[in-house]
Amino acid sequence: MQKPARALSEVIKNLLKKPVTVLYPFVRTKIQDKFRGKIVCEADKCIGCRLCMKDCPAGAITITQVAMPATLAPVVPAPQPAADGAAPAAPKPAPRKFICEIDLGCCIYCAQCVDSCPRKALSSSQEFELAGTVRKNLASRYEPTAEEKK
Ligand code: SF4
Ligand code: SF4
Repeated sequence: MQKPARALSEVIKNLLKKPVTVLYPFVRTKIQDKFRGKIVCEADKCIGCRLCMKDCPAGAITITQVAMPATLAPVVPAPQPAADGAAPAAPKPAPRKFICEIDLGCCIYCAQCVDSCPRKALSSSQEFELAGTVRKNLASRYEPTAEEKK
């Protein structure tokens, strides 16, 4: 007899309380700073180490190198003797750039890739409304900016 009485008092108490839920999507709560939403990539920062690919438990990331035009292939100029006898300038290879593709259909939003990236190129955004009916729309592709690609 004690249990139903306790349950009844709980019901009455909760009838008078404000609900803890909100009428989403009409009412939105604040998203916490450390929320792990859609993973985004700043491709210009990527150095192509592929640690993110290695550590991703879902195999959701693919990093590919941007094909460089022949004019931008690493150039090794013949050493020229400097007029003043100084050592010739070291050859400077053209910077390599990478494309990052993330399949959000596979991603489990663990943010391991964010922790693994040594260049802070990956981050968790607060975007979470990612549902869709077309699977290929869940693929995100991040390329270096046109200026950086040159
Ligand atoms: S959040 Fe996790 S599952 Fe998603 S891409 Fe990064 S490592 Fe992979
Ligand atoms: S871990 Fe970072 S720098 Fe390395 S390939 Fe992935 S995104 Fe690029």
